[in-house]
Formats: sequence, structure tokens, C-alpha cells
Amino acid sequence: MEHEKYMREALRQAKKAEALGEVPIGCVIVSGGKIIARGYNRRNTDKNTLSHAELNAIRKASRKLGDWRLEGCTLYVTLEPCQMCAGAIVQARAERVVIGSMNPKAGCAGSVLNLLQVAQFNHQVEIVRGVLEEECSQMLSDFFRELRRKKKEKRAAETEMKREAETEMKREAETESS
Ligand SMILES: [Zn+2]
Repeated sequence: MEHEKYMREALRQAKKAEALGEVPIGCVIVSGGKIIARGYNRRNTDKNTLSHAELNAIRKASRKLGDWRLEGCTLYVTLEPCQMCAGAIVQARAERVVIGSMNPKAGCAGSVLNLLQVAQFNHQVEIVRGVLEEECSQMLSDFFRELRRKKKEKRAAETEMKREAETEMKREAETESS
């Protein structure tokens, strides 16, 4: 299926984010049956709030098309867009957003808000949800599980080092007093 094919590309972008230790979120933009731009989350790497997958892809798509308008374009995103990205998608007049997994705590394509389809705005964006949902959400939960594991490991190592230092100090104190 067409949607799945492009979502796989978005997942490939998400993997690039993961390789940098970033939350794995990817996006591709399709126009006229072709991928015209790709993007992935680089927020920590770039130290920039604006460096979300969608905005990185939108910037590239506009450069390619020579236009801020992305009319007729479809964005494939592995995770439901946030308020900033949803706002940019509306501003860019994109036609459609295809979403992998939803984000109940922060998503603005129907979860917390639906900024893509506010009747009072001059543009609404078509939404397709749940494309390769399993893979998309699995990727995120794997990432966060690994992150928790690493944190726990680090904490355990720190506790161990502290204990060693204390033992050392005690031993020295004993040697001095004897
Ligand atoms: Zn965003």
C-alpha cells in the first residue's frame, strides 16, 4: 500500500534520529507521488526547539519547491505532530498528514487538540491515522525502555563508585589511627 511504503521511509528517518540518541521521530513529504523531502528529530543535536522532524522536512521541501506553500503535499510522520508542527503544517497549506502512532499526551492532530482541522482557520488538513502504528509505537517504546535501562545502569555505577570511595576513606582513617 502507498501509505505504508512512505511510512517506512519515515521510519527510516526516525532511525537516523535514534542513531544520534534522539527520540526517534521521522517525517517524509510526498508530492506528485515522489518523496521531495525527509527530516528527523535533531532537537538535542542542534540544541534547537525548532528542530523537530516535521519542521526539518518542511524546510527542505520549501527549498526544493521554491515556495513556502506545500499545496498538494502529504506529510508522513511516525508520531502525531505537536502544536508547533501542526501549526506549521497548516501554515504551509499542506493537503494531508498521515500519522503512524498517536501521542495522547502532546499530539495536536486529535489527541490534545486538533489544530489541523480548526474550522475557523483558512485551511484544514486531511488526516489519516494508524498507518504502521505497531512499528511506529514500538520504536518509541523500545527507545524509552532502553533510555530507562541506561539511566538505571548509570545510577548503579555511581552508587558503586561512592561505596568504593567510602570504603577507601574508612580504610585510610583506620590505618592512620593504628
Ligand atoms: Zn513537533
